[in-house]
Amino acid sequence: MRWIDEFRDGAMARQIAAQIAIEVQPQRRYHFMEFCGGHTHAISRYGIGDLLPSAVKMIHGPGCPVCVLPIGRVDLAIRLALDHRVILATYGDCLRVPASDGLSLLKAKARGGDVRMIYSAADALELARKHPEREIVFFAIGFETTTPPTAIVIRQAAVEKLANFSVVCNHVLTPAAITHILESPEVRQLGTVPLDGFIGPAHVSTVIGSRPYEHFAEEYRKPVVIAGFEPLDVMQAILMLVRQVNDGRAEVENEFTRAVTREGNPKAQQLVSEVFELRRSFEWRGLGEVPYSALAIRASYAAFDAERKFALETKRVADNKACECGAILRGVKHPRDCRIFGNVCTPENPIGSCMVSSEGACAAHYSYGRHKVAAMVEAA
Ligand code: SF4
Repeated sequence: MRWIDEFRDGAMARQIAAQIAIEVQPQRRYHFMEFCGGHTHAISRYGIGDLLPSAVKMIHGPGCPVCVLPIGRVDLAIRLALDHRVILATYGDCLRVPASDGLSLLKAKARGGDVRMIYSAADALELARKHPEREIVFFAIGFETTTPPTAIVIRQAAVEKLANFSVVCNHVLTPAAITHILESPEVRQLGTVPLDGFIGPAHVSTVIGSRPYEHFAEEYRKPVVIAGFEPLDVMQAILMLVRQVNDGRAEVENEFTRAVTREGNPKAQQLVSEVFELRRSFEWRGLGEVPYSALAIRASYAAFDAERKFALETKRVADNKACECGAILRGVKHPRDCRIFGNVCTPENPIGSCMVSSEGACAAHYSYGRHKVAAMVEAA
């Protein structure tokens, strides 16, 4: 299949791996963070880590929307379903994110909450049209990729004067999170997370373009290569990063030219800025409060903002003590470092958010057996 098979060619992947092995310099170590959960998934699924020379290490980043959702926001959704008796509509992965008191949205549904799984923002709007007698709240999550569809439904609800529809906006922003990582003590002072470059997100970059990453290359001297989600995209991006490090360059390069431009999608950007504004601060699981890292609904669309409509407040709740998701999302730890990985915590029984979505580092490692391979290597 064109555009798929040609980016999954095993022989070509081995050729690129051989080229990487030739070009890595013997005295050097290369630590690259793949920001996006889609790349984490691809690296685990296609065994890309196994193809790389030992001098090249991939560090998982926080770019999985379900993983970074803090417990307090899920609690808020549960309160809407159980106390305010709304129809709470959200994407499938959100339903299983662990919340306070052993609850999740799925368990809230079992307790009688009207929680519905939807496939798109448009499905939530359709629920509002079908049930004018009920309050419908769309619990919206995601990075810049899923923000425009949320903006569309809010604008459409305004056009149709749907008084029973509102949104809890949890949309977060990639560049702010990258800045936060680069400014973290682990990267700046302690050196516990050595970072030589980033693989930039694929889908997010189709919307925001490659321009926002230029700041990281210029200010922090970190190379960025934007890459697609297919295995050859990722391999090629790693080769491009190795070359930048070897040459002492820190530039933004675009491997994903078939979809990403420097300017991104101006129409989508304009739509988002019409409906949303920056939040001063937002809590990310693992990263804590990150300034200007998320969006809120503008006052002109306040009628569709569930947080205002139901006077909701987000309470900060600590993660499960046994869970290392926070450290994994900051790149400090690996899923294998968690004592309950694969025994107590599994995709069927997730204790932390990184085990919920297929883009989560723990779920990706578990699902594709990378933890077993690693255990065998360690035992040998
Ligand atoms: S294995 Fe489970 S508990 Fe451990 S870090 Fe991952 S999600 Fe958290």
